[in-house]
Amino acid sequence: MRIDAADIETCLADATTGDGAPMSTPIVQTSLFAFPDFDALVTGLSAEHLHSVYTRGQNPTVEALERKLAALERGQACKCFASGMGAVHAVLLGLLAAGDHVVFAGSIYGPTLQLAAHMERFGVTHDIVRSGDVSAVAAALRPQTRLLWLESPGTMLFGVLDLPALAGAARARGVLTCVDNSWATPLCQKPLTLGADIVVHSASKYIGGHSDVMGGAVVTSTTIMQRIFQPGYMLPGALLAPHDAWLLLRGLRTLPLRLARHEADALEVASFLRGHRAVGDVFHPAFTAPPDLVARQLSGWTGVFSFTLRRGDFASVRSFIDALRVFRIGVSWGGVESLVISPVRDDGGAGLARQGLPPGLVRVSIGLEGAELLAADLDQALRAAQPNGGAP
Ligand SMILES: *Cc1c(COP(=O)(O)O)cnc(C)c1O
Repeated sequence: MRIDAADIETCLADATTGDGAPMSTPIVQTSLFAFPDFDALVTGLSAEHLHSVYTRGQNPTVEALERKLAALERGQACKCFASGMGAVHAVLLGLLAAGDHVVFAGSIYGPTLQLAAHMERFGVTHDIVRSGDVSAVAAALRPQTRLLWLESPGTMLFGVLDLPALAGAARARGVLTCVDNSWATPLCQKPLTLGADIVVHSASKYIGGHSDVMGGAVVTSTTIMQRIFQPGYMLPGALLAPHDAWLLLRGLRTLPLRLARHEADALEVASFLRGHRAVGDVFHPAFTAPPDLVARQLSGWTGVFSFTLRRGDFASVRSFIDALRVFRIGVSWGGVESLVISPVRDDGGAGLARQGLPPGLVRVSIGLEGAELLAADLDQALRAAQPNGGAP
């Protein structure tokens, strides 16, 4: 993992300076801000994205986090939200109107696609190009297409998309590109420097990093943020609370350190699984992505990947998951504890087929317990639940 020295400084720095400045950013726990006179209030109200008037518009603790995330992503403007989905929703609601069309490429976070499906009732349509192939995506762009939505590495299978080529194809057609950068974090990938126009994050994952806070962020140019701010932020009101912003600021302080460990341990565990007779494919981008693509856009890996069990029916997957002792069973990822989940259901594989996922798929988030312990836990669960190395 190569982390930019300036990024480490941004993650660690306290947000206030000067004599007697607190080492930790103050939590400005207020709903509104009072003004010395009426003129000052009128000025504040005329540009609520620039002035702290009401915490639904701007709050100094949240703003400290927004400045850091904008710096890390090399963007001009950032707004933070109550969750990653709050951020996703802000981009869609802020930029789209009836008659507009969106192209989603690669494997996309399920609720993002569910929200896109919901927006059809407001006249916003979409297409999904699962392969993420550049010519297939270019062919899916229509005159009505306003937005290309990418996730790389993608949800569940962690495929790496050619971000510069895809963003370039969109730009040539006057289409904005938004990248969900939750997996890589700005420390490992900076989509705005690769041609994307907008980045969204679920800060509930690695940025928070301790499974104790939810948040989201949109980072983009000042011009695009001006379009998103009012309809996507102030009016829907999915704001990040000051205390939650403070938890995310604290998460950032250890993000470089945590990611280095998540990366190393996930690589070790993924390599162990690759050599295991009860395991089929291992979907870690270090093994699956073209090296030239990786070299251009990623400076490191994080700790979430998936793999298939050789015996992949529902009962076998359930036995395997229930046999794990260190891995906790739950949704989400990016915390200090290792997690396991699977999209396999007792439906004869219909759900997996619909999502374009292989049988027996299991996803893990590698926490900070240590690779040796985690590999041993996976090994004992595989032995218990996949007799004869999963042979039928
Ligand atoms: C979790 C997640 C989201 C949504 O974030 P929340 O904070 O859970 O609302 C969006 N995109 C990706 C890739 C995610 O993993």
